[in-house]
Amino acid sequence: MSYVLFNDQITKREHVNIDMEDRGYNFGDGIYEVIPIYEGNTFAMEEHLQRFLESASKLEIKLPYDKTVLEQQLNELKIKNKVINGIIYIQMTRGVSPRAHLYERNVEGLITGFCREMAFPTEQKLAGVSVLLTEDIRWLRCDIKSINLLGNIMAKRKATDNDCHEAIMHRNGILTEGSSSNLFIVKGKQLQTHPPTNLILNGITRQIVIKLAKENGFTVNEEAFSMQQLLEADEAFITSTTQEITPITKIIGDINATFPVGTITKELQHAFKAFIDKETK
Ligand code: PMP
Repeated sequence: MSYVLFNDQITKREHVNIDMEDRGYNFGDGIYEVIPIYEGNTFAMEEHLQRFLESASKLEIKLPYDKTVLEQQLNELKIKNKVINGIIYIQMTRGVSPRAHLYERNVEGLITGFCREMAFPTEQKLAGVSVLLTEDIRWLRCDIKSINLLGNIMAKRKATDNDCHEAIMHRNGILTEGSSSNLFIVKGKQLQTHPPTNLILNGITRQIVIKLAKENGFTVNEEAFSMQQLLEADEAFITSTTQEITPITKIIGDINATFPVGTITKELQHAFKAFIDKETK
């Protein structure tokens, strides 16, 4: 991680100096994105940057420069760090101002970013993972990719403490998503996942999986589902940029269930891999 993005400069990490009254530090007042890199090429950069701008606009955080500059800088960051398979992380806080709850609209956002190698989880994609089903304690604007992730990180810790890879969450028995992933179930030839409302982050992987599933002859029902429907599902999987399509083989916590690594999940994994190869060649 030798070169990082600091506002509009690519610089060495040791040259980054952030004020203690940065609102990201004081309030978790900021947003982020994670963009994958496969074989030296970014994947779905446009979709990620679009969501970044949407999150910024929903929170009235002002971009210090435009999207084309940002895209150039992120590509530059990738090249300078010589990353082949990994991720770009970018974050923008509301910037620096004397600590007060009230935010002013004239302050420019502060951008930081890094780029590093990351192994995509081959083993988990093949064998599946255990998940902990727990209550969703987060705020009601989960559609914003905020750096304020307390509800998510508490759930992740709880999952790990229970020997699970991920926490999946429910509000009064209605499944929402994972602590850092979206959730799908499969029943017959139909996929079901929570609609992209304020209660979930509309994952870029989620959107690609929906598109690929439809192209491959499956129906996709974007309607919230209950714990009972989860119990009755044939297959279940989570999706995210870093976990791609990961099968769920076991659920513990508020319900107990086991699933096979299903044939439809595997078919979607193949379609997803083929799509990445096509888009990044
Ligand atoms: N939901 C949450 C809460 C997440 O943190 C993430 C990953 N950051 C996702 C869903 C998946 O989003 P994506 O596919 O864009 O990585």
